[in-house]
Amino acid sequence: MATNELRELYQEVILDHSKSPKNFKELDDASHQSQGHNPLCGDRLTLYLSVVDGVIKDVGFKGAGCAISTASASMMTEALKGKTEAEVDVIFGAFHDLVTGKVAEADADILGKLAVFGGVRDYPVRVKCATLAWHTLRAALAKAEEAVSTE
Ligand code: ZN
Repeated sequence: MATNELRELYQEVILDHSKSPKNFKELDDASHQSQGHNPLCGDRLTLYLSVVDGVIKDVGFKGAGCAISTASASMMTEALKGKTEAEVDVIFGAFHDLVTGKVAEADADILGKLAVFGGVRDYPVRVKCATLAWHTLRAALAKAEEAVSTE
């Protein structure tokens, strides 16, 4: 895909998901939950997971943040349902490598729609916004007691 097309797609997807985020809800039957905070931008979110036999059955989030943190959380929740914790680790690794510029090309087989976040590389200060939900997810799965901070 040409760079311009990718940039336009990125902006369109971020806008869509930040306006009407998916899975923007608390879970009554959450087995895991964690809070994340990105002081650099002011993004805050709480993530809720319902994990049964190592598989993510349901996921939701609440909070307030910039368009990129909200869109990232929204798209992450869509990507997680039905995945095992091991699969989530693989997706997180590929996502992190992409937004931090460690790899030039998104691994579309692993990332699917999340590949549009390759656009974040053009805005380095936004990397923490894009990864906040993912760091919070890992803390939730690890049953960490303390809130996650990107600082
Ligand atoms: Zn942000």
